[in-house]
Amino acid sequence: MKFASNVLSLFEENVQRGYGRNETVGQLYARELTTTDIVIEHATVLPPVSASPTGVRFSTYQAFDERAKLFEIGLHCVGLWHTHPVSTPKPSMKDELLAANYARAAAKDLPGVVFVILGTKPFPRGIGVWFHDQKSLRQLTLEASR
Ligand SMILES: [Zn+2]
Repeated sequence: MKFASNVLSLFEENVQRGYGRNETVGQLYARELTTTDIVIEHATVLPPVSASPTGVRFSTYQAFDERAKLFEIGLHCVGLWHTHPVSTPKPSMKDELLAANYARAAAKDLPGVVFVILGTKPFPRGIGVWFHDQKSLRQLTLEASR
């Protein structure tokens, strides 16, 4: 799996470095799902229903609407990203539930979903990537290739 540079830039802009920044959440998209090496080509920011430095909530309706719109231009939602105000991110209980719900909702199209959490350490160390296969959430190891 690879992240396009525009996706990494969006991540970088939203990392919670500095005092009082709220968590941010968005969806991840790929154009091609049949290749062995999936490229996350596009990432969005979902408008928060509520946000604080330690949590963010979004509208599942808006998330659905965004997926439908981007699907029309050939982009498939493959998961979610959000930020945590810590150096090395780890999924919370709520995050595990969210990832499981996404994985189950996507089950007819995808073997699982990508779940990214951005911590405050410089990339790639601050990026945590997990994969939910409808059963459990497993962390993937990342390597920089630029
Ligand atoms: Zn979280």
